[in-house]
Amino acid sequence: MKSLTHFALVLLATALPAFAQKKTVVQSTNYPLHYFAERLATDAFELNYIVDPEVDPAFWKPGKSDVGAFQKADLILRNGADYEKWIKRVSLKTSPQVDTSKAFSAKFIKTKGKEHRHGDGTVHSHAGTAFTTWIDLSQAAMQAEAIAARFKQAQPDAAAKIDENLAALLADLSELDGRLKAFGKAWGEKPLVASHPIYQYFARAYGLKIEGIEWEPEMEIKDSDLAGLKAILAKHPATWMIWEDAPSEANIAAVAKLGLKSVVFAPCANRPAEGDWLAVMKANVERLEAMLKM
Ligand SMILES: [Zn+2]
Repeated sequence: MKSLTHFALVLLATALPAFAQKKTVVQSTNYPLHYFAERLATDAFELNYIVDPEVDPAFWKPGKSDVGAFQKADLILRNGADYEKWIKRVSLKTSPQVDTSKAFSAKFIKTKGKEHRHGDGTVHSHAGTAFTTWIDLSQAAMQAEAIAARFKQAQPDAAAKIDENLAALLADLSELDGRLKAFGKAWGEKPLVASHPIYQYFARAYGLKIEGIEWEPEMEIKDSDLAGLKAILAKHPATWMIWEDAPSEANIAAVAKLGLKSVVFAPCANRPAEGDWLAVMKANVERLEAMLKM
């Protein structure tokens, strides 16, 4: 028996370090959160991002296996602000869920909106709570902080490294936030139109007057669409249109006839074809800064 006990102790001793190193399995509901997780995590975390790259994550419809993956996660990073429309329809424990926008929920913006079709074919409305929280980069910083706090709880041994990673991420966000504030100041009161109603927090943060319509960068613009835009321009005489993604040449030409120049500010809600979230944000900021010289 003595040797058996000894054997059991040896087993326990070898099993313990392995147990202590159990990785925290993370799922994110949109790409900005996954990017923040990538910046913050140590190798004590296993990061997953399984949202279909072809859809807007806000209107994603997960399959059975996707839901299963979320059910198995130790942490589920959520945007909050009524972002994850699918989450109400599935059964997920609340304890792993991290509502990253909770800290500023008192400042959520309510929106009106009618039903429209997205480029990926989904039909939806933006009425309710505006959810593109992260393109106010000070809000993005609070979302990153919420993730860091839960990461430190999950892996206390990694806390110092997570704090160090957080400081570097916050510095990057703050740099771009400062440039956007400078842009907002320089741009002033001149009205802008946007191709989609997703710039509410962005407009508030940077003091911009943006009127959003419900277009898609690649859609075929009909006369009725142009008439709607003309009616807005009569009251809100913009000379620039902000697109959420690169518009087609035909659409650039169509709005140019109404005296509108085109610029892209991509929210980067899903994984970009090239580069990462920060690279997309930097390119957005550079394009806005270039507008000041045109
Ligand atoms: Zn939409």
